[in-house]
Amino acid sequence: MQNEGWNLEHSYKELPEVFYRNQNPEIAPAPQMIIFNHNLAESLGLDSSKLESRPEIFAGSALPHGAMPISQAYAGFQFGHFAMLGDGRAVLLGEQITPDGNRFDIQLKGSGPTHFSQNGDGYAALLPMLREYIISEAMYYLGIPTTRSLAVALTGKNVLRETVLKGAVLTRVASSHIRVGTFDYISSFGKMENTHNLADYCIWRHFPELEKAGHKDNKYIRFFRAVAKRQASLIAKWQLVGFIHGVMNTDNMAISGETIDYGPCAFMNSYDPDTVFSSIDKMGRYSYNNQPKIGAWNLSRLAEALLPLFHEEENKAIELANKEIEYYWECYNKNWLSGMRAKLGITNEETEDTSLITELLELMWAHKLDYTNTFRALSYPIPLSEIPDFSAWQTKWQSRLSRQPQSQNDVSDIMQKHNPAIIPRNHRVEEALAAAENEDFTIMHKLLAALSKPYEDCKIYSQPPEPTGCKYKTFCGT
Ligand code: AMP
Ligand code: MG
Repeated sequence: MQNEGWNLEHSYKELPEVFYRNQNPEIAPAPQMIIFNHNLAESLGLDSSKLESRPEIFAGSALPHGAMPISQAYAGFQFGHFAMLGDGRAVLLGEQITPDGNRFDIQLKGSGPTHFSQNGDGYAALLPMLREYIISEAMYYLGIPTTRSLAVALTGKNVLRETVLKGAVLTRVASSHIRVGTFDYISSFGKMENTHNLADYCIWRHFPELEKAGHKDNKYIRFFRAVAKRQASLIAKWQLVGFIHGVMNTDNMAISGETIDYGPCAFMNSYDPDTVFSSIDKMGRYSYNNQPKIGAWNLSRLAEALLPLFHEEENKAIELANKEIEYYWECYNKNWLSGMRAKLGITNEETEDTSLITELLELMWAHKLDYTNTFRALSYPIPLSEIPDFSAWQTKWQSRLSRQPQSQNDVSDIMQKHNPAIIPRNHRVEEALAAAENEDFTIMHKLLAALSKPYEDCKIYSQPPEPTGCKYKTFCGT
């Protein structure tokens, strides 16, 4: 066995067996590497030059040294309705311990049927896996907590969707794949003791600081609070960059606070709080504006699963949970407001800041202005807009900026660091995928290079799409 740097552990397998099934990935007939993430591999302690030429590992045909593959059990509230799910097309190879002692799940997605596949085939197609690769990398470089993508490899097997597509496997790296849905599952089907096990495991893995003695509050309340705090921070970050997850079911909300599951997600172009991209989201449940509320809704499902650990009396437990949901809102509002202040170069606090921000967003909405580019343009000394109500807003903002000590240059500096020039625009992602379909990966590599420097201006990647009259649509379960 070559020394490729694998250092896999399997702490999840120490949980009771109801949490997973042993599951080998399927042998792929003709593995071929499409893209390999060198930087990520190196940070995981892997030998990227050796692994780049081992597509069989990343297509599921050869197990890395020390792998003990499993599929994880979970449930989830999908569009509000409880469903039994589980890794229908994913296999966790193990937890890579990095040279600096961190632990990351290494998971193959699209590697064949599992115990949890139900009516699904267990496979994934190349383009959606490349889409996940591109958008998750963009999120990483935007500084937003996210799962990452180590590789996409073709399997050599066709996948039947509406047409015949090339089958591929995405290797996903996550600080864990434990979801709110994992708690939904175990609280519905397991014994209370299992919920206890899972909560303790999450504390050990993600919030070890909670074990320190000397707190008056119950440890599981503090665990819930820590999860709520991370979600409040994550969702505020999404709102600040105009990211729409698209399918915020509880099975797609990670306990770690990382963005997970890049299905029907997309970035907004012109500002409209009601934007929905997902083709199946007819009621707009997961629209841009609803994301923070859905965060609270999902956390309420987590609280329900944890209630018996909060307090032996149910009423008391519910009261405690409600207080924590209020805390989520406090954190979210604080993160959103401080993030918006930074986007406008505001460094001190005035009560009217919220209305200044809201007025700007309303102007963007009314005039169909591009969300990303409007903020970026304001980061430079620009003349007053020709739109009269916008120029009136600019004057008000300028006078707000005069009530803080920073110079115009300092303000520009702050703003350029908080307003990306480059986001993965839908039309650019589609263009890269269309070329990839024809085996031209150069456009994708150029796009990825631009996305890795989101705060550097680059005209071609910052242009919004030409209006087409049709809404951009995204799809799940691809
Ligand atoms: P997602 O919409 O990707 O969050 O998937 C929801 C659930 O469907 C998860 O439990 C997936 O594992 C499962 N799933 C999605 N696509 C497939 C597929 N092609 N085969 C089997 N299971 C799938
Ligand atoms: Mg999912």
